Amino acid sequence: MTGERADHQLDPAEKAGPILRALDARYGRKDRPAGRDPLEALIRGVLSQNTTDANSARAYESLRERFGDWGSLAAAPPARVEAAIRSGGLARQKAATILAIMRRLKERGRYSLDFLRKLDSAEAERRLAAVKGVGIKTARLVLLFALERPVFVVDTHVHRVTRRVGLIPPTATREKAHHLLDALISDGDKYSGHMNIIEHGRRVCHARSPECGACVLRRWCAHSHEETP
Ligand code: SF4
Repeated sequence: MTGERADHQLDPAEKAGPILRALDARYGRKDRPAGRDPLEALIRGVLSQNTTDANSARAYESLRERFGDWGSLAAAPPARVEAAIRSGGLARQKAATILAIMRRLKERGRYSLDFLRKLDSAEAERRLAAVKGVGIKTARLVLLFALERPVFVVDTHVHRVTRRVGLIPPTATREKAHHLLDALISDGDKYSGHMNIIEHGRRVCHARSPECGACVLRRWCAHSHEETP
């Protein structure tokens, strides 16, 4: 309790810190690995859309095995790229996006996204999301994982959990959630918070039948208190 209010009634700014500390304690604080290549992060991000981590990792390994360097991928016919990434699902759509990225880089003269390092985060995000098939989430994955920028990335688990606990309004769209959580979550917590909220969504706060009785966030959770007054 804080003053007259129960923990689940606190403002988002008041409960964000305690929620993230509880997740760190439950799942471990995550440190961002250094030295990720932004182009690899982008291709991995495209392949991760609407599939599991295991399937998208398999699709990425298959792509790199089939095409030893970025130039041969850029020159490949779409059907060969589709065949290489089939295990990740949505192969036609993802192949088209990957080839569109490679075409743009070929026009720039280099298969590299290192030029993004010189841009501010908003401009880097805008350039990445300008490619058809690369949404805000995928663009931000590159910023967070490879460019070491303090942006918050909202996937389906983060969107669900943060609405339920009351960090953002229940009606907030995924796009709006990115900006609300950017402002709410401190820069130092953005990477670990993203990773741990996803883990919590997968393990406990399932889309159907969340396991509220076993949840370390229950005391702060607006949804849980609505369901079990
Ligand atoms: S208390 Fe229930 S709804 Fe709230 S975060 Fe935990 S599992 Fe999700």
